[in-house]
Amino acid sequence: MDDIKDVVIVGAGPGGMTAGIYSGRANLDVVMIEKGLPGGQMANTEDIENYPGKKIVKGSELSREMYEHVLECGVKFGFGEVKKITKREDNLFEVDLGKEKFISRTVIISTGSNHLKLGTDGEEEYSGRGVSYCAVCDGGFFRGKEVAVVGGGDSAVEEAIYLTQFVSKVKLLVRRDKLRAQPILVDRLKSNDKIEVIFNTSVERIIGEGEGFKSKLTELELINNLTGEKSKLKTDGIFIYVGMKPNSEIVQDLSVCNEEGYVITNGKMETSMDGLYAIGDVRDTPLRQIISACGDGSIAGQEVYKYIESNF
Ligand code: NAP
Repeated sequence: MDDIKDVVIVGAGPGGMTAGIYSGRANLDVVMIEKGLPGGQMANTEDIENYPGKKIVKGSELSREMYEHVLECGVKFGFGEVKKITKREDNLFEVDLGKEKFISRTVIISTGSNHLKLGTDGEEEYSGRGVSYCAVCDGGFFRGKEVAVVGGGDSAVEEAIYLTQFVSKVKLLVRRDKLRAQPILVDRLKSNDKIEVIFNTSVERIIGEGEGFKSKLTELELINNLTGEKSKLKTDGIFIYVGMKPNSEIVQDLSVCNEEGYVITNGKMETSMDGLYAIGDVRDTPLRQIISACGDGSIAGQEVYKYIESNF
């Protein structure tokens, strides 16, 4: 007889870790699988200012605290990347990590989302050589330099502000005449004199010099979206924050996603497949925050218990 788990949680972001705490406390046999560090995007966030009870907390600190809490609830941590999930005729799931396979009564997908790329010439070539998607990881390399940030949402505005502690100037390139970010962030942006917002502007090309590992970004070709006029902007770096895409590849074959790739669930975090749940940023949800992912995780952590009680 196979070792059958009650729950396999795929992804250890705030949602996955909360699901672990709830299902672990319900005495279920739970494995949480993660391919990176526990915390996911939260771990790469400098300051979190909207997690109740913590007026301001480092993302890395909250990630560590949640992870310790999960382990205390008896959840086992498995490092690895899930390649495929299948449902067997006996109603059990096979969660395939390549070298290893878990058999489980339920699966909770909490794989989050990833940064979208701009898709311009030079983006791939100069990635890691001036092009970045993570200010917390790479900001320190640009001390005293000038950088551009692309995007007008919460991420772009928040990270533009964060970068000003290192760099001499941030040019925020916004493709429309409006920002999409929350008013509190926009107010902070306006009062930061190291940031210049350039509206109606898109990046057409990322240009650099040098060969191989010595190559580096030097300038951007910009286009004014109102006039069509092109211009060049000399810069040492570009931070790209133009939205997110769900990490839902492992469930694409299970017919549980919408057209954009987000997993569809009901209010109990149930997908259309019995025993399969989805939570957090990978889910089709109106709010993608740490606290909303935790809320989803608490519901799924309870629901798996009820499902197992009535089906096994
Ligand atoms: P987002 O809200 O989808 O915003 C993406 C931004 O990039 C928009 O301004 C969009 O412009 C722009 N954009 C898209 N494609 C572009 C392109 N090809 N060239 C130039 N600009 C482009 O993404 P996000 O800021 O990453 O946020 C994702 C989610 O996480 C949101 O729900 C957000 O609220 C949440 N979040 C919250 C916080 C917080 O609460 N502190 C922090 C970070 C993220 P248009 O407006 O013209 O579409």
